[in-house]
Amino acid sequence: MVVVDSSLIKNVLTHVWENNPEICRHWFNEIELVDVDAGTIRLLVREPVQLKFLQRSCTEHFTEAIQSTTGKLLGVEFVGNIEQVEPGPVVRGSDSGSGSANEDMILSPDYTFDSFVVGPDNRLAHAAAMAVAKSPARAYNPFFVHGGVGLGKTHLLQAICQSAMQINPDMRIFYTSCNSFMNQFHEAVQDGEMNSFRNRFRNYDLLVIDDIHGLSNRGPSQEEFFHTFNTLYQAGRQIVISSDAPPGEIPDLEERLTSRFSCGLVANIERPCYETRVAIVRSKAKMRSLDLPEDVAGYIAARFDTNIREIEGAITKIQTMAMLDNQTINLTLAKQAVGNHIRGDATTKMTIQNILDTVSGYYGLKLTELLSKRRHKSVALPRQIGMYLARKHTRFSLGEIGGYFGGRDHTTVMHAVKTINGKRTDDTRLDQDIFHIESVLLTDE
Ligand code: ADP
Ligand code: MG
Repeated sequence: MVVVDSSLIKNVLTHVWENNPEICRHWFNEIELVDVDAGTIRLLVREPVQLKFLQRSCTEHFTEAIQSTTGKLLGVEFVGNIEQVEPGPVVRGSDSGSGSANEDMILSPDYTFDSFVVGPDNRLAHAAAMAVAKSPARAYNPFFVHGGVGLGKTHLLQAICQSAMQINPDMRIFYTSCNSFMNQFHEAVQDGEMNSFRNRFRNYDLLVIDDIHGLSNRGPSQEEFFHTFNTLYQAGRQIVISSDAPPGEIPDLEERLTSRFSCGLVANIERPCYETRVAIVRSKAKMRSLDLPEDVAGYIAARFDTNIREIEGAITKIQTMAMLDNQTINLTLAKQAVGNHIRGDATTKMTIQNILDTVSGYYGLKLTELLSKRRHKSVALPRQIGMYLARKHTRFSLGEIGGYFGGRDHTTVMHAVKTINGKRTDDTRLDQDIFHIESVLLTDE
């Protein structure tokens, strides 16, 4: 017999916190125990997005925790309301019935406006996103947000959905990535189900498409999206789009789409400054109910300055290390967990592939763009930096380096090396950027 009281859930949560800190969130404390029935413990989570998160990502960990704290072979089920657990046939919500969030839409409970840190680098995008969530199709339509990898585009888009859903639960909202939109489109074509595809996509009140640059070079998908866009727009529905580049700079995108994307508000998210990053570290720690000393937060913010996603990884590493060694978190431990380890034989290990990857990652470019013939400054400068670094840190000849960088000749490489050498002395920002890339290249992860 399993004793069902408040200590059960407490013990289970403690076990999960200790063994899988990376999945734990402060709101886990609000999970309620419903009952134990037919070998299954039922836990109540009222917030739909949180419920999905638990069902998708945490079932295994909770089962493990329940079994080791009770010593019984029990399962777990997360439910959204008490009615759901009452006996009787299980009725799954279909799209037509309740108007709200679509069944297969997956949102992260972490990505809300509450947890989004506002700084000078994302202020406009954030303000516009809030306005869009509050007054869909009346504030900015379409709302187009662009910025480099890991700078918060997905976070902001999902926050719009969650906030709009709270304000108006009946709204038909759909968030999807551009790739998933294209896959669904291709499946519909293959299965001869274009009508239902169109009915679905052209009936949302708020359609959010993440990473629209995926449309680049995809003729039929561009055509389909164009019509989806027009139908929604003309019907006064809200469209929100993100991309790694502003509308005019997405390669191989039809002009008619570029102009549609630009006709509402286009907002940019820049790389966050140090203060913003410290605040983000704090927000992430708070989400996990983790106490991070001031200097540790500062250290993480200084160490990871381009892709915010790495900040989360760093916090997990530090948290795990502290737990395993049963230590409190301090600067020494943080440095051990995520610090720099300069390789002894760095020059021999530095490869052109590494350089290409690191430079394109740093500037949020695709490798193909870096190697392309494009001469736009946003691509040409990173390309020159790459050549400069290859010349400085490898033993390849100018001609060989040119070969790796999209088949350019040795004079181009020579020119790049000279240009960057000159710029490093005049342009401190650029000098710091290069210094940063070099330290990444020289660091053993
Ligand atoms: P993108 O879609 O632009 O590549 P994401 O939205 O996936 O980036 O963000 C990467 C990570 O950084 C996420 O964990 C996100 O929560 C976090 N992040 C980025 N910007 C912020 C911010 N301003 N405040 C809080 N977290 C942020
Ligand atoms: Mg994203």
